[in-house]
Amino acid sequence: MEQKKFKTEVSELLHLIIHSLYSHKEIFLRELVSNSSDALDKLKYLTLTDDKLKNLTFEPRIDISFSEEGEDRTLTISDNGLGMSHDDLADNLGTIASSGTKKFLSSLTEEQKKDSNLIGQFGVGFYSAFMVAKKVEVVSRKAGEEQAWKWSSTGKGSYILEEAKRESQGTTITLYLNEEGSEYANRWQIEQLVKKYSDHIAYPIFLSYDQTSYDDKKKDDEGNPLKKVEHKIEQINSSSALWRRSKSELTDEEYKEFYKQSSYDSEDPLFYLHTRAEGATEYITLFFIPSKAPFDMYYADYKPGVKLYVKRVYITDDDKELLPSYLRFVRGIIDSEDLPLNVSREILQQNRVMNAIRTASVKKLLGEFQKISEQNPDLYAKFIEQYNRPLKEGLYSDYANRDALLELVRFKSSSEDGYVSLASYKERMKSDQKSIYYITGGKEETLKASPLLEAYRKKGYEVLIMSDDIDDIVVGSIGTYKELPLKAINKSGAVDDLKEEGEEKKKDTKEAKALIKKVKKALGDKVKDVVASSRLADSPAVVVVDENDPSVQMQQILKSMGQ
Ligand code: ADP
Ligand code: MG
Repeated sequence: MEQKKFKTEVSELLHLIIHSLYSHKEIFLRELVSNSSDALDKLKYLTLTDDKLKNLTFEPRIDISFSEEGEDRTLTISDNGLGMSHDDLADNLGTIASSGTKKFLSSLTEEQKKDSNLIGQFGVGFYSAFMVAKKVEVVSRKAGEEQAWKWSSTGKGSYILEEAKRESQGTTITLYLNEEGSEYANRWQIEQLVKKYSDHIAYPIFLSYDQTSYDDKKKDDEGNPLKKVEHKIEQINSSSALWRRSKSELTDEEYKEFYKQSSYDSEDPLFYLHTRAEGATEYITLFFIPSKAPFDMYYADYKPGVKLYVKRVYITDDDKELLPSYLRFVRGIIDSEDLPLNVSREILQQNRVMNAIRTASVKKLLGEFQKISEQNPDLYAKFIEQYNRPLKEGLYSDYANRDALLELVRFKSSSEDGYVSLASYKERMKSDQKSIYYITGGKEETLKASPLLEAYRKKGYEVLIMSDDIDDIVVGSIGTYKELPLKAINKSGAVDDLKEEGEEKKKDTKEAKALIKKVKKALGDKVKDVVASSRLADSPAVVVVDENDPSVQMQQILKSMGQ
């Protein structure tokens, strides 16, 4: 028997969970069931791919039972999945494996700490058991190993690891319920929670309970109806892989529920897209767009939310190749009929089938976005509010879909409220206008107040306000939209467009020359050049960037990268 201390961050996390999540304490069951489901996925996969486990036959299942006798109320969740070895127990239940979780914890505000979705997203799931339990025991035996181990803890700084017995592979978790948790040693509670959170888990979840009934016809010695106690085991989830069902038999409600369970989001998705492809490659995709962009999607260790299945067998959710990175906010599943089950990450990257699925999925998604932008502007506005930025990333990373993406991205404008598309800009263009104009290098309000806009306003030319810090990086890669060049008005080249037809380039007058000389002398090295300009209407002077130089914003970004 060994007693081990939790890593400090686990103690912190436990404290946080126990003290901030009380209103959501019921999620512990979802977390434990989904861990069991993960363990069943893993074992199922290994029996198909790992020679050592090929002969293991098992009926994947999850069993829940409870006891309410005596002092102790317990709740037990058991699975016959992969199980954990001695070291797995110490590694998985004694530390927080993901560095993202640590970063995440320290970044949370008090309000956010109350949000169970954030907790769920970061896989701190197991520890949620301590919200309802004063002690947790985990007996586990890893597939392929003889020895079972028991991990136990009261959640107060340390845990105990000792040898144990278990007949076959899998994990049994017993919760010794505390006061707040005692209500869960109850058939109706458990059924309701499983239905709510875990109904679509791919494996059957069984609940065992004792049913007491009274037989009026048979009396006992004292003349009372005979009491009969039957032990029952009942499946309490529907365990359907929802995406395999046809669109026509699924309701909007079912899609939303499925989304919320599988992605731990408490909000409905913005929209979803269910596709069944038949023919050369057969597969099903079910994609969801979360109503809020995952807050960690700009972290390096962000985990994209698409799961790959092959014929219902879960393969991975950890492959950045399933969809291009700019679509990493999309959640859902890809289920293929044609991929080999033991497909490795390396193979996935070059796999013809996977490539075909990915290419078609991107087209489908972008097509759906476009359709929504045309048919449901309100919904599209919400979408853009969250995902404009990743789509812009796509502009420079996905050349093949550049034209589609150009129709999807939105910008602020000098003359319109809200966001505008390039297509609508083009429609509003003046008949003599030759280019699409934009300004970069600052906040929206600053750019909108720029004196550089004056001359364009006077001509009735609209200017795109590119205030997103990514705009600067992508706009250069746009170049043209429908053969119209995009020109930055804070660079020196755009100004020629403002000249009236036949107007000569303004010759610097004598006075201007004298003034320029004075200004140059006064500013010295601070500027590259001083010239007379026709771009201003009311303001006397303006600072611009040389056409060939990076913009101010870009210079700042480069500087911050140490360039
Ligand atoms: P996550 O599920 O996000 O990894 P958890 O805190 O829920 O985080 O679980 C931590 C780890 O403990 C899991 O990744 C898994 O390796 C292990 N684990 C938890 N429950 C089980 C189980 N029932 N069977 C096998 N391994 C488990
Ligand atoms: Mg988990």
